Amino acid sequence: MKPTHITRALHAVLLANTIHIASVAVAAAPEELRSLVTGRVEAEYSSLFSIYTNLHAHPELSFMEVKTAALVAGELRGLGFTVTERVGKTGVVGVLNNGAGPTVLVRADMDGLPIKENSGVPYASTDVVKDISGEDQPAMHGCAHDTHIAGLIGTARVLASLKDRWSGTLVLIAQPAEEIVAGARAMLKEGLYTRFPKPDFAIALHTTSILPAGVIGYGEGPFLASVNSMDILVRGVGGHGSAPHTTKDPIVLASQIVLALQTIVSREVKPGATAVVTVGTIRGGLKRNVISDEVKLELTLRAFDDKVMEQLIASIRRICEGLARAAGVPDNRLPVVTLTPESVGVTSNDPALTRRLTAAFNEWLGTDRVKLHPPITGAEDFSEFGRTAEKLPICMWWVGGTDPAKFAESGRTGVPVPSNHSATFAPVPEPTLKACVTSMTAAVLELMGNARTAQPKAR
Ligand SMILES: [Zn+2]
Ligand SMILES: [Zn+2]
Repeated sequence: MKPTHITRALHAVLLANTIHIASVAVAAAPEELRSLVTGRVEAEYSSLFSIYTNLHAHPELSFMEVKTAALVAGELRGLGFTVTERVGKTGVVGVLNNGAGPTVLVRADMDGLPIKENSGVPYASTDVVKDISGEDQPAMHGCAHDTHIAGLIGTARVLASLKDRWSGTLVLIAQPAEEIVAGARAMLKEGLYTRFPKPDFAIALHTTSILPAGVIGYGEGPFLASVNSMDILVRGVGGHGSAPHTTKDPIVLASQIVLALQTIVSREVKPGATAVVTVGTIRGGLKRNVISDEVKLELTLRAFDDKVMEQLIASIRRICEGLARAAGVPDNRLPVVTLTPESVGVTSNDPALTRRLTAAFNEWLGTDRVKLHPPITGAEDFSEFGRTAEKLPICMWWVGGTDPAKFAESGRTGVPVPSNHSATFAPVPEPTLKACVTSMTAAVLELMGNARTAQPKAR
């Protein structure tokens, strides 16, 4: 936090003496840079608004983001980036080399969700599109990834126009398929860190209903949970419903397993550690007088600590096998426990990087618009960018999207505002989009900018 105080003190001195400001114009770089960026963001806003509403009206589903990818690629090319398309199916990588300095990766995700929109905004989606399996689905930007893409384009435009104010290599990526937590892995697998300049930092923002529009939420360490999707196939020995003694009933066994799983969080996980074990579906049986052969359970697991997640998985395996054995299920019919690919680790914000960016947000946006936020049990595949062998420092922050009046009303009434992934969620475009561009630009300039080194003592 020290550099912030030094800078603030310096500003106070400079602001107190207008003659000094005039005589050391370059020295007042941070203030001047901020107002320059604010002006650029204002100038770009109507264009970004129309990009945003167009994206919102025409969402594309995971790994099907063809038009969105083409839009980003065209924009970045026009700004002088070297652009590579189809990195991880529909992913886009734009690289802007701008002299010596760090390499910073900025990630925005592109996909919408298979939800029929009911937000009531004039640019609401009515589209029905193909998902990756070829099925028709209603589509909605229910997680505000459209604001991330509009924000990425805005950030690219602002930074491309201020190339004399930063140096290093900027890598902007439009990532596919976040909603199925597959896009980040797909891009990494196709050489994101080997075919392109290897980043020193990876940063991203996410627009959210849980903060008023324009407010930034930050947190060091665990910021979003790890999620594991698990399938359990409970197998028994079927038979006639009138003769249970000749069977091993998987419905009874599955019922015991569901109840026993509830004791993992309450009895096995250390109090204070966050963990969720939810059995979301249970399907078994076809007819009342038939004891079926199998029951299928679908679970979601959440934790903020990889060790806790490992504990949950091990406990579930133990309980399934133990209860099946207790029920006398033969060895070759024991439950099959599978982790599906829709699983991802904890998103853990690098503390030093987070502190640095938070100090910049405070300076750029004012402390009343920058709030510490506790971790949430949602998950993000942005975490993958920090989980490779390189162990890159990563940081994601929230950008509030909820109308402040509605947010305040919700606080009074206790009625929650529509959340991300709800059919009625619709962030207010202003100031949300401006906060996306401003916070991302501030973050990049903090990491790559030369404003701080242009202080009077350095000249
Ligand atoms: Zn989402
Ligand atoms: Zn999202």
